[in-house]
Amino acid sequence: MTENFSIKSLFEPSDYNINQALDYCISDFLAQSDEVGCFNKQEIDNFFSTLKIPENTANMDDYIKDIKEIIIPMCSHLANPSYLGHMTSPLPWFIPQIGRLIQSLNQNMVKMETSRGLTLLERQLLRLLHQEIFHFNDDFYFDVNKDFSKTTGIFTSGGTMANLTAMWGAVSQVKQSGVNKIAVIGSELMHYSFDKASSLLGVELYRIPVDHQNQIVVTELEQQIKKCRAEGMTIAALVAIAGTTDFGSIDPLHQIAELGRKYHIHVHVDAAWAGAFILSKQHVSLLSGLERADSVTIDGHKQMFMPIGTGMLFFKDPQFSQNIVHTAPYAVRRASLDQGRFTLEGTRPANMLYLHACLHLIGKNGYDEIFSVALNNIKILAKHIQENPCFELLNDPKINILSYRYIPRIFRNKMMTPEDNIIINHFNYQLQKEQRNKGKSFVSRSIRKFSQHDNQELVFLRVVILNPNVNEEHMVYMLEDQIEIAKQLESYLMAAS
Ligand SMILES: *Cc1c(COP(=O)(O)O)cnc(C)c1O
Repeated sequence: MTENFSIKSLFEPSDYNINQALDYCISDFLAQSDEVGCFNKQEIDNFFSTLKIPENTANMDDYIKDIKEIIIPMCSHLANPSYLGHMTSPLPWFIPQIGRLIQSLNQNMVKMETSRGLTLLERQLLRLLHQEIFHFNDDFYFDVNKDFSKTTGIFTSGGTMANLTAMWGAVSQVKQSGVNKIAVIGSELMHYSFDKASSLLGVELYRIPVDHQNQIVVTELEQQIKKCRAEGMTIAALVAIAGTTDFGSIDPLHQIAELGRKYHIHVHVDAAWAGAFILSKQHVSLLSGLERADSVTIDGHKQMFMPIGTGMLFFKDPQFSQNIVHTAPYAVRRASLDQGRFTLEGTRPANMLYLHACLHLIGKNGYDEIFSVALNNIKILAKHIQENPCFELLNDPKINILSYRYIPRIFRNKMMTPEDNIIINHFNYQLQKEQRNKGKSFVSRSIRKFSQHDNQELVFLRVVILNPNVNEEHMVYMLEDQIEIAKQLESYLMAAS
């Protein structure tokens, strides 16, 4: 220990202005708008591999210096408008301060004894969004408000946990009738959280092909339902996706709801990405049919501009929450009001205060405007890609996710053979890696079968536009960066052929 240091001082107010010190580091980082940051894995790993647990408490100035010089340079510039590749958004300025509030209060939402009235606020916030999704009348919510044995939904740490909880509930529901061969069915574009759920719950997961619009082929879904039934399996849930991770496509929600009704199967909609559109007057129609789902996942940390660690799951019928009730005698008792009765997670922060803040400070009109900007931007980008012979647009973006690939010159204006596509795949793989390493702009990369290419697996580039600061200039800058890198790669390609 350093001299005169008392451990108690850590728990007393300090006159060290840590806010100012950190603000200084962070604003520097956020102001670096010109590049998204180079990343040398080896160098960084070598550096961190010498990390040790210190014996003594460090001096705060030294520690802040470490943050500035070591931690912050490692971070991804997610707020940079040329960073167009992932579902992580820049945050409104007030969010870090709400975070400070949440962490200073350090309430534990698992039980009322550790969160008092915030448990009731959490239930009311869930009720508000529940009404936006399912549109029940005020009488319904009057009854719901009085019945603490159920819940309209839960907060989770993200979409994965929400999907997992939904599958857990659906599987528990069918298990009550003593079945053992259980299946879940959705499209091939289902998020991999459903693979995790199927593995954890020990159920079969069936992935049904999608059509050229990247929507599940409903006739094949029905075939699979019949096939499972014929084989003596019980289907716990049909999964529809509202905003696929690769293309942003929205499954035919009405038709899937119809199948659910016809065969008495739980319908879950994974609206982790597009669910936020419920708050938008202009774009809510994209989600037509969502109100017919039995459960719905929405991520707060995607299009709701809440920070990482916020997901939600809603139950059309609050009775469904009984399938996941777990209680403990020392707390989280059955007759309590504790939200921990319904959550897979235990100790949990009061992250719903971010939702409370966003609903008040962004508001429905604010969300409307943000989504309009993003959806307009994606159309502009699609046009640039379509008009440029260097690129092939691979989806007609209905929402703010777009897929395309670069076509090297020697393959343009000809019928591409499967062998050509293998070379183009490799080319796009290299292109995305080079672009990431160069660090001026960023898009992500994935691989999928494409019906317009005889179901061949193609490597593609993926753009997600969420950041309200993105404009045409940033998108053109990103494409030009790509073309410049591609020209270099093409010269190697020419040399090799
Ligand atoms: C992001 C996403 C998920 C997973 O959510 P996390 O918050 O990353 O756990 C699941 N499904 C879809 C459609 C998503 O977009």
